Amino acid sequence: MNAGALGRNLGKPYTAIPDPFGCCDSYGDHFVTLIERSADLLDIPVETVSNTDLYESGAFEDVTRFLLEHRDQARDVLAKYQDKVDESYVPFRPICASCGHVAETDAVTAIDLDGGTVEYVCTDMEAGDRVIEGCGHEGTATLREGKLPWRFEWPAQWRVLGVDFEPFGKDHAEGSWPSGADIARNVLGDVPPVPMAYEWFTLDGQAFSSSAGHVIMVQEVLELIEPEVLRYFFTKDPSTARDFSVERIDQLVDEFDRFERAYFDGSGTEARSRETVEIAYPAIVADSAESRLLLPYTFAAVLGMTDDAELREKMARREDHIPADASTGAVADALARVDRARTWAERVDNAYNYRLAADLPTTEFDAATEAALDDLAEFVEAGHAGEEIQSEIFETARDHDLDPGDLFAAGYRLFFDTDQGPQLGTFLADLDRAFVVDRLRREA
Ligand SMILES: [Zn+2]
Ligand SMILES: [Zn+2]
Repeated sequence: MNAGALGRNLGKPYTAIPDPFGCCDSYGDHFVTLIERSADLLDIPVETVSNTDLYESGAFEDVTRFLLEHRDQARDVLAKYQDKVDESYVPFRPICASCGHVAETDAVTAIDLDGGTVEYVCTDMEAGDRVIEGCGHEGTATLREGKLPWRFEWPAQWRVLGVDFEPFGKDHAEGSWPSGADIARNVLGDVPPVPMAYEWFTLDGQAFSSSAGHVIMVQEVLELIEPEVLRYFFTKDPSTARDFSVERIDQLVDEFDRFERAYFDGSGTEARSRETVEIAYPAIVADSAESRLLLPYTFAAVLGMTDDAELREKMARREDHIPADASTGAVADALARVDRARTWAERVDNAYNYRLAADLPTTEFDAATEAALDDLAEFVEAGHAGEEIQSEIFETARDHDLDPGDLFAAGYRLFFDTDQGPQLGTFLADLDRAFVVDRLRREA
């Protein structure tokens, strides 16, 4: 990205700054494109409206003229919310014809409402704690060649776009919302929209921060979960803080799976009343998914330890996650989650981030270890649950005078060709039994 070019353009409208990423018409367009693409990926229909276009086409002209005409009243109302609103304050910021900067609210020196123009001097503007120098140009601008200050622009948008419902981040709740509602009512004579202040959401417990790289893009999220699971996340109560945890994305998926089951069961969930389920589910899942199979996400992550598609399916059937009469299409859909769970395990490098060794690794075990592995093979062959296999590994090690850690290490070597891995007993119970027995016997 070309940050230098961005710096030279400070003070200009975003739509007049070249795209520092080089792909779109402007810096502003770049972000609009990102939002549109993300919405598209999530199958959420959005229509974006360009503020710049609205100004240039004259859609804001009437309301701008009205505010200039009633600028005394506009100042009086704004002064309740903002310091430094004096006689020099004009609720219009012309764009300097010479340098392209959006001038400050004290730049206008004369107003000709009949002619629809203002005279201005391009003065310095404050942006946070820095000052962007004006070029000193003196010029004339039409009411389409500038913008309203934000505190006025927002209520003007409500009028121009016919906004009747306005969700906004909690930062606006004590700032521009009360002043905007006041301006709408007492300057413009409009009824403000119904407001909804929402809380922030966090990413793995921390605020999103693009400068610190603490962000995740929609397309990355969709490598980990299905679009409907992400849409489900946005049905959570916006008035409370929500955390999007990549580390524990399995919990979000489990929650969604319960939510989907509840919808078809005619029940609610611990997090959602029946009424909410009935309203929210059809809004986020387009097609009826009544007959679909959902593999538990962490189980899908276990299946992701092997690339062998047949073995994946065998393991899923063995654990009854796929019923015998499931259609080929339903099985394929269910197993599609495995690649996402695999990507998750790799991304967060958790207990599922292991690779089952497809072929028997080269090993050199002593006689005691070999005998212990043979005993273990016999135990697994008899058919036991994961926890039983887990404690049997300890038992068998003791029987053969081995350090249990060494027997686990031998197991990890055989199945992953590493010296560590996930909880071995549980994992072996999920695998195909014949495969496990042969591998413990070092036969395949
Ligand atoms: Zn771009
Ligand atoms: Zn200028």
